Amino acid sequence: MNKLPTLCFLICFSLSFSQEKYAKYNQTVSSVESNMILKVIPVKNDIYMIEGLGAGMGNIGLFETDDGVIMIDNSFEIIEDMITEAVREVSVKPIKYIINTHYHYDHADGNRAYGSQNIPIIAHHNVRDRQKKETKAYGGIYTALDNFYVPKHEENELPTLTFEKEFSLHESKEEISIYYFGNGHTDGDAIIKFQNSNVVHTGDSFVLYGLPFIDISNGGSIKGFISNLEMIDSVCDENTIIIPGHGGLSDQSQVQKLHEGLAEYYSKTMTGYQNGLSIDQLVETIETSLGNTSGFGDPVQVKRNFIKSILLENNIIVE
Ligand SMILES: [Zn+2]
Repeated sequence: MNKLPTLCFLICFSLSFSQEKYAKYNQTVSSVESNMILKVIPVKNDIYMIEGLGAGMGNIGLFETDDGVIMIDNSFEIIEDMITEAVREVSVKPIKYIINTHYHYDHADGNRAYGSQNIPIIAHHNVRDRQKKETKAYGGIYTALDNFYVPKHEENELPTLTFEKEFSLHESKEEISIYYFGNGHTDGDAIIKFQNSNVVHTGDSFVLYGLPFIDISNGGSIKGFISNLEMIDSVCDENTIIIPGHGGLSDQSQVQKLHEGLAEYYSKTMTGYQNGLSIDQLVETIETSLGNTSGFGDPVQVKRNFIKSILLENNIIVE
């Protein structure tokens, strides 16, 4: 008789602990559910993009093959029905494969929905390893991501086909190359190129919202992010259509612009620090072609955090 209150106490305690820990994740998911509007945008040939308006989600890429749809990223589990409906605007065929560009919840939370439907999911092996466990994003660039914990995925919600360096799909006269260029945004970023159509989905290895979020706590590297932009540039030409991780359709010149702006940030930060500038002086003096734009919070604060993060990855800790 005494066991019941004890059990209840333990369950209630553990539930409230979980809810507290996952507060930011739960808040994001409910905001996605109430604010998301999806828009299907034709890209080229049988390739489409689903862009999420009103709440942050990664761009989804779609390719209709002869016998199914290949989906790149799958956004949030909670809007699975909306996503499936948007896919139906493109094709009534079943989803044949899903490709994850990386493990982040705004791109691959939908694994919880689609993985359990036995749809094969292709990803870098580090995506599977990360989703097996609870994750905590690096908050150092965007303070909004401080203490952002994401619950682990169950076994049937994980990528089923994993790769190390490169993976290829040959579907309906299209050759699809999936590249891994090394640690950058995370330690498991895939860049997908539709070779015949000359369309590239970059995931968050290229974004259009200003200073990018780089997940240093989960294998990300600012230096690596910059060199990965060079690698993306090398698989594109002036006619390539680029689906970025976030933002509208883009092209090679924008990748080059981001590369140039970030490389300037990096070298000006390191040179300035070596010349004795304080963090305040660095924040005040660094001007680059990228400007001070940021989609997340106060741009000056983001700039400061970004500079500190560059120093941090060079083992320099400043207040
Ligand atoms: Zn990301």
